[in-house]
Amino acid sequence: MRCFQCGTCTSDCPIARFSDTYRPRQIIRMAQLGLRDRVLNSDTLWLCAACFTCTDRCPQDVEVASVIRVLRNLAAEKGCIPQVFREEASSILETGYAYRIPDLRIKKRETLGLPPLPKGNVESIKKSLRGVSFLKHLEKKEN
Ligand code: SF4
Ligand code: SF4
Repeated sequence: MRCFQCGTCTSDCPIARFSDTYRPRQIIRMAQLGLRDRVLNSDTLWLCAACFTCTDRCPQDVEVASVIRVLRNLAAEKGCIPQVFREEASSILETGYAYRIPDLRIKKRETLGLPPLPKGNVESIKKSLRGVSFLKHLEKKEN
C-alpha cells in the first residue's frame, strides 16, 4: 500500500525493457486495488526474473519482487500456471532439464563425437519439489 506509482520499478526492470506488456508497477497497482482474479490470471506475472532491481530501487521500500513471488504462489495454488511453464516443469520432473533435448540433437552430438549429456537427478528434484507442494499445484487445473 506504500506504492505511489512513480514507475521506477518498471523503468529499471530488465524484463519490462523487452516486453510491451510486463509492467511491475501495474501488477502492484492491481494488487493495491484488490483485483485478485485479474492479477492472478495475468500471464505477465510469470515473466519476472526475480532480479530484485525493482526492490532495490523503489523509493517507497516496496518489496516488489517479493510481492510478485507471493502473487505467483497464490496463482499456482489456484492452478493458474501458464502452459509454457507447466511444460517446462514437466520436463524438469521427467529429465532434470527445463527443455527436452530433441533426439535429433542427441544423435548429432554422437556423430560429432561429443560426450553424452549428464543425466539430471530426477528423484532428488522430485523430493525437493514435494516439500513445497509443487507437484500438487502442477497437477491442479485452473479454478
Ligand atoms: S513499487 Fe515502488 S518503484 Fe514501483 S511504482 Fe510503486 S513506489 Fe514506484
Ligand atoms: S525482480 Fe522482476 S519485476 Fe523486479 S526488476 Fe527484476 S524482473 Fe523486473
